[in-house]
Amino acid sequence: MQELTHYLGGEHVKGSSGRFADVYNPATGEVQAKVPLASTDEVAKAVEIAAKAQPAWAATNPQRRARVMMAFVGLLNRDMDKLAEALSREHGKTLPDAKGDVQRGLEVVEYCIGAPELLKGEYTDSAGPGIDMYSMKQPLGVTAGITPFNFPAMIPMWMFAPALACGNAFILKPSERDPSVPLMLAELMEEAGLPKGVLQVVNGDKEAVDALLHHSVVQSIGFVGSTPIAEYIYGTGCANGKRVQCFGGAKNHMIVMPDADMDQAADALIGAGYGAAGERCMAISVAVPVGDETADRLIEKLVPRIEKLKVGPYTAGDDVDYGPVVTAAAKENILGLIQSGVDQGAELVVDGRDFSLQGYEDGFFVGPHLFDRVTPDMDIYKKEIFGPVLSTVRAGSYEEAIKLAMDHEYGNGTAIFTRDGDAARDFANRINIGMVGINVPIPVPLAYHTFGGWKKSVFGDLNQHGPDAFKFYTRTKTVTSRWPSGIKEGGEFNFKAMD
Ligand code: NAD
Repeated sequence: MQELTHYLGGEHVKGSSGRFADVYNPATGEVQAKVPLASTDEVAKAVEIAAKAQPAWAATNPQRRARVMMAFVGLLNRDMDKLAEALSREHGKTLPDAKGDVQRGLEVVEYCIGAPELLKGEYTDSAGPGIDMYSMKQPLGVTAGITPFNFPAMIPMWMFAPALACGNAFILKPSERDPSVPLMLAELMEEAGLPKGVLQVVNGDKEAVDALLHHSVVQSIGFVGSTPIAEYIYGTGCANGKRVQCFGGAKNHMIVMPDADMDQAADALIGAGYGAAGERCMAISVAVPVGDETADRLIEKLVPRIEKLKVGPYTAGDDVDYGPVVTAAAKENILGLIQSGVDQGAELVVDGRDFSLQGYEDGFFVGPHLFDRVTPDMDIYKKEIFGPVLSTVRAGSYEEAIKLAMDHEYGNGTAIFTRDGDAARDFANRINIGMVGINVPIPVPLAYHTFGGWKKSVFGDLNQHGPDAFKFYTRTKTVTSRWPSGIKEGGEFNFKAMD
């Protein structure tokens, strides 16, 4: 059995707490490795190393730091296949999807190559007599991030790339479900020229997270994961005086107007609802057709597409649409929610409950499901399912549809499918959700914009990546400097009073 490590001070270090978690191959259900769960002392060691390494890194000029990012991009491209394979093996997503996971992180690293420009600061010449004023953006020091299982390459990079480009040290606590790719990324950063100890990986669970939250040297915490944990980390981190940003769960609605191109809308829902087995915070989990006739047409288009979906292991080739969910517990939770939908009166139009794959009977596969006539009081509507389950809520009007999305506690992403520019524009303006797609089902902003939801999908003020990341990972210092005139003439021993 492979025993994974932490990555501390540029070395793979065995866990010393004696606690481990199983890392599964979700396609076969087998335990393929065990990952150490760090103790408070092991976290303290990582913080100590980071605090020693950070000042020299902060003093390295931003252009040199950017060159490390540049080299890292080259290494990610070189090792793309290897990273994707390791990612699929632990997460279960298909290889093309795993490459997308790496690619979307890589794009944020590319953005961070522009750090010298983004860190330039501000300057006012002659703000008063002989007075100049300038603002510097200085790194925070030791920063940390806690990431979820569903994007084990992209989300760590969204955090550590800007943190490092700004001159911070960064401690990553990845998900214990798929920790191999984060370890590989830390190695690659060092190969790219990052000094030892500036980026470290501490594997662990709540104990490691709490150790980071309570360590006085750790200046900031980034978190992505489920809403209850986001809320806990935000509250605890803020109470301990840290800068904190937490991104939580989602229930993304896609409104389908009667004038939409129904084939396009159905294709979009298939990708956005079932891709990555629905384990995406930007997955569409609720379709909201406006009017019964639209709903009937949409369902009619969806059913044959869903029935054609190919579910299988990542090793089965590129025509697999989605793989298993991450753990047996995740599968059980999804099946429990599906049962609650049936019990609470939703119509299960496509029932994937008896799905089974020959040779992979112990894998965590869940067949695709489609519910119709879901109502807002049902658990399948209120809760994030995080599985291949699409719920249809029929709305009587556009106003009813937009109200539904606005009243949901989550506000990560949403979309509208329509040919009417006026409806689309009104939707984009009024909706209280952070990321909006117009005829685009998964509107994930590119690296140079920022990523973040509203409502219970976020805790904190600044979004991920884009210019916000450079605000989150720096502190502003403003210097007012006065050089009284006359000094250049020299030889004057009695200092003049200032004007
Ligand atoms: P999770 O909340 O279970 O775990 C996230 C991280 O928190 C992991 O590193 C885990 O070890 C740690 N953790 C778990 N329990 C903890 C506890 N009690 N105390 C302290 N730390 C704890 O989330 P997950 O299952 O890994 O990821 C799926 C969730 O992440 C979904 O809710 C999804 O919507 C959300 N997500 C959100 C975004 C976003 O940008 N909003 C992006 C990706 C995923």
